[in-house]
Amino acid sequence: ASQFASLPPVASDEVFDLIGAYLADAYPERVNLGAGVYRTADGKPWPLASVEQAEKLQQAANDPGRHEYLPIAGDQEFLKLARDLVFASGASGWADQKTDELRIASVQTVSGTGANHVGALFLAHHSKAKHVWISDPTWINHHTIWELAGVERRLYPYYKASDCSFDFDGMIKALDEEAERNDIVLLHACAHNPTGIDPSKEQWKAIAEVCQRKGLFPFFDSAYQGFASGDPAEDAWCIQYFFEQKPSIEMCVAQSFSKNFGLYGQRAGAFHLVTSTPSAEIRDGVVAGLSHIIRGEFSMAPRFGSSIVKTILQSEALTTQWMDDLQVMSGRIKTMRESLYNELIKLNTPGTWTHIVNQIGMFSYTGLTVPQIKYLREKYHIYMLVSGRISISGLTPKNVEYVAIAINDAVQ
Ligand code: PLP
Repeated sequence: ASQFASLPPVASDEVFDLIGAYLADAYPERVNLGAGVYRTADGKPWPLASVEQAEKLQQAANDPGRHEYLPIAGDQEFLKLARDLVFASGASGWADQKTDELRIASVQTVSGTGANHVGALFLAHHSKAKHVWISDPTWINHHTIWELAGVERRLYPYYKASDCSFDFDGMIKALDEEAERNDIVLLHACAHNPTGIDPSKEQWKAIAEVCQRKGLFPFFDSAYQGFASGDPAEDAWCIQYFFEQKPSIEMCVAQSFSKNFGLYGQRAGAFHLVTSTPSAEIRDGVVAGLSHIIRGEFSMAPRFGSSIVKTILQSEALTTQWMDDLQVMSGRIKTMRESLYNELIKLNTPGTWTHIVNQIGMFSYTGLTVPQIKYLREKYHIYMLVSGRISISGLTPKNVEYVAIAINDAVQ
């Protein structure tokens, strides 16, 4: 018999399963509220205008080196622009650029997933953390990534189901009373997936204070910078606040360009590790350690997506266009939140629905129950995760009334 005949079972990926079931459904009114990808008001994918312009520029340049290998650590010019977008996009820019730059070790990764993964492996090998603290709930892949890295996972409370709100006190209490020195705290920089609920600035300050006081290591997952509010600086506010704290906090950022540049399949991303001491020697040592992992796993990140991001961020005109593109995407999401809310209210749908408009980013935690979700799928062909998470970008002016009628029916 094969030595692989009795492998431990692996649960299939719910999001990708859901997309498969949706595509196999021939019902004309079917609605896909599963996948975390942006869709236009016609339900179509949208190559950003800034991305299309960058592609044209690249085609015109016809660089014979465009298919060459990148260096192991990645494209240095891209990495500087990526780093500056995270740490210095605020109105005040860098506090002290020369010193600040010496604190940040950056490498290019296979998008946000790769950044999370390379970061997790690096910390598993080189940090003193005993545990990683993960929000309950979180993006499901965080569990897979940290399981594979071999770091013990602990959950901190995040969501209060009773009123669909942020369990700030529960989170602080867990970190304050149970986390141990050097433990890693995984934080969503903005547009928390799956709940759509972010801490306020005052709450972020309190989280920074606990991390500082307890010697915890914040690990920011930044997958929606600019996509959430429309403003890249606003969406990186918490990272910049943590970065500026004195004494300095050691931390890291996994940065994705999938959603904010619409480059999902191109796998553009970066990982930045921030040390407390500004030192070229320490920084270069961290880059070397990260490069070692990268070399052994995939040699270097792909270059097409990162070259598009670089072309846009290098150009003032294209950056302005990108900011407009962010407004288009975040604006449509906000409008669809309001439409769904208004339709539910118009129907006198039982329950409170203000959380739909108060949440931010691609996702909304609806508060619907498993039987209600099943009912929506069987009777109305509306596809969503069993947690009740919906992807707002699956809503359009044409289907929002249908979805509201269905939800109103399901909760009766
Ligand atoms: N982190 C979070 C919280 C996400 O929601 C996602 C995408 O859904 C990612 C990271 C990474 O996505 P990608 O690997 O496409 O950059």
